[in-house]
Amino acid sequence: MRVMAQVAMVMNLDKCIGCHTCSVTCKQTWTNREGVEYAWFNNVETKPGIGYPKRYEDQERWKGGWELDRKGRLRLRGGSRTQRLLSLFANPDMPSIDDYYEPITYDYDTLLSAPAGEHTPVARPKSLLTGEDTAITWGANWEDDLGGAPEHAPGDPNLEGIREKVKFEFERTFMFHLPRLCEHCLNPACVSACPSGAMYKREEDGIVLVDQDKCRGWRMCVSSCPYKKVYLNHVTGKAEKCTFCFPRVEAGQPTVCSETCVGRLRYLGIVLYDADAVTAALSVPDPEDLLDAQRALILDPHDPEIAREALAQGIPHDWLEAARQSPVHALISKYKVALPLHPEYRTAPMVWYIPPLSPVLDAVTAVDGDSSDPDDVFHAIRDLRIPVEYLANLFTAGDPEVVAGVLMKLAGMRGHMRNRSLDGTVDQGLLDSIGLTAEEVEDLYRLLAIAKYEDRYVIPPAHKEDAARLAGLETGCPLDGEGGPGMGGEAPGRGAVSLSLSAPPRKGVKR
Ligand code: SF4
Ligand code: SF4
Repeated sequence: MRVMAQVAMVMNLDKCIGCHTCSVTCKQTWTNREGVEYAWFNNVETKPGIGYPKRYEDQERWKGGWELDRKGRLRLRGGSRTQRLLSLFANPDMPSIDDYYEPITYDYDTLLSAPAGEHTPVARPKSLLTGEDTAITWGANWEDDLGGAPEHAPGDPNLEGIREKVKFEFERTFMFHLPRLCEHCLNPACVSACPSGAMYKREEDGIVLVDQDKCRGWRMCVSSCPYKKVYLNHVTGKAEKCTFCFPRVEAGQPTVCSETCVGRLRYLGIVLYDADAVTAALSVPDPEDLLDAQRALILDPHDPEIAREALAQGIPHDWLEAARQSPVHALISKYKVALPLHPEYRTAPMVWYIPPLSPVLDAVTAVDGDSSDPDDVFHAIRDLRIPVEYLANLFTAGDPEVVAGVLMKLAGMRGHMRNRSLDGTVDQGLLDSIGLTAEEVEDLYRLLAIAKYEDRYVIPPAHKEDAARLAGLETGCPLDGEGGPGMGGEAPGRGAVSLSLSAPPRKGVKR
């Protein structure tokens, strides 16, 4: 067993209001510069919808992530190393700018300098790529709040098999928001596909970064990432991606998207996992078994044997303690309400989601049911399969029973807390039906409904002694330098964390 620590995130989708604050603050911090105008390290999509870039979840088209070969071994969908090298100069699986969107600005000067006249001056949209007038025809969330749903949402790959059943008249379908960022996968396809060795996964906390000095702009990471969360900077010609705000994380602070999230729906913490078991876990033949296989990789930090092994292998005491307090570990492994996005891509993503109950509650209300009555909600979960099947295509490789189980836990938790608050009763039958004790449900409620800042973010600071060990190595922000964040200035937090751990990997964590 090789015990490693990973920074992971959970998002509670019921609380996302689609305000895009996370995307905007991330952009201000990391991609507010030339060359990456079109890039949103964090974006928020409306689902159902085709997403950003368009239909990125269609791996038949984009060939991202991993698949099993005939012998049951993991191999990149994009082909063997030789095949990928042969397509270096003409990669057929590369999204074009049209698949993202053409970034624009407005001709604000006209508003300021137009002479007095009969008509109000108009600021025309200008392409940020060509500087010419352009028409706005697409955006990173063109389908916001189902705005484009009747026209585009039927093309959502997650509707495979249920497309006919979902009616896309605006008022009859369901919707929710899906914030997305790099998944900092345990088995990152981007790292394995990079011919230059520029993509790497940090040994100390699992954050996946790009070494800008080594990147040669081959873009194999872009095509092989099934979540399409690596972007080419068209000015520097190098790949860029979400850094999990590592300068903040090293200082024990949450990522910018988490810190500024209006819905307070993000949780950050450490999980311990067995790095030796990753390949076998992700090689299970049935995609529906991948969720359990992925959960089984995550080790229980309360287990004395795991704790002993972790300490013996160099996990610091305070990191072990943080893993025990981790809200992420509780939501993924203890309460099993968080699910990974598209486990079938076999990358073992480390941003997990609590599926939204709201589409089901809307359906209950639509048939004059009581959305606060667990019985009505349980019936809806069993009878109104559309939202559940859709969520299953997103989070469980198509197994609706797992999603239904999570939604029932959430509905049961609401029912229990309502009984407690209204008349102080405990419905043991309700608790039995969701397999949790009253104490556990109340703990889950505290975590999901009223958790404080320090309960949502349990991030141990980086260790200076590690940094000292790295003193001989070149350190610094992977996006720093010419064209880096802050227009080539210092990376955020760099001064505060002068002994940054962002050096290239120290030993074989590339898979
Ligand atoms: S989600 Fe992130 S870590 Fe995973 S393959 Fe894509 S870029 Fe790599
Ligand atoms: S800031 Fe929070 S609530 Fe707003 S869109 Fe982002 S994840 Fe959702």
